[in-house]
Amino acid sequence: MDSLDPVSAENLLNSSRPKSITTFTNRPSKEEAMAAVRTLLAWAGDNPEREGLKDTPKRVVEAYDEWFQGYTADPAKELSRTFEDVQGYDDMVLLREIDVESHCEHHMAPFLGKAYVAYMPTDKVVGISKIARVVEIFAKRLQTQETMTKQIADAIETSLAPLGVAVLIDAEHQCMTTRGVHHKHVTTITTRFTGVFKTDAALQDRFLKLAQK
Ligand SMILES: [Zn+2]
Repeated sequence: MDSLDPVSAENLLNSSRPKSITTFTNRPSKEEAMAAVRTLLAWAGDNPEREGLKDTPKRVVEAYDEWFQGYTADPAKELSRTFEDVQGYDDMVLLREIDVESHCEHHMAPFLGKAYVAYMPTDKVVGISKIARVVEIFAKRLQTQETMTKQIADAIETSLAPLGVAVLIDAEHQCMTTRGVHHKHVTTITTRFTGVFKTDAALQDRFLKLAQK
């Protein structure tokens, strides 16, 4: 490490990994991350050197690459390609039951659920799979459900400039079901309404009915 400055040393160790687009870019090497997992295994009370755990640090670090891949993706880029030829379609576009697989930022425990996302287009729409992708990008970061709900709405609001956005997330937090208060089957619902979904009660009601039918 002495002959390399910190930046090029990091680039060398992480050369196969995409750069995080968030502000924190000082990521440790894969080796350092694996050493941290070995520490946690010992902290849990087990022997990191025993046969069954020998490859666990490598598997955990690779799982992290998948669970937290949202740090290297840009929601605005996903929403940048829009379509204007929708023959005058002027009602809400609603995606139901988008899978949410995220981790709470307080315990790094999974929270799992569904997202319902609608927007009221002006003159342009976006490919519907892109909306699901935006949910996935924000979910695959350390999150609170409240923050994530707002981030999804804000991203659509900024990129599409629609008449309004509605986001509802219904999720079960394992930090609540498997530890602490141990409340099984409790789910948390968060919502964010902007524009016409905020000002038009009948429209908001229609969204909620269609989302939860
Ligand atoms: Zn938690």
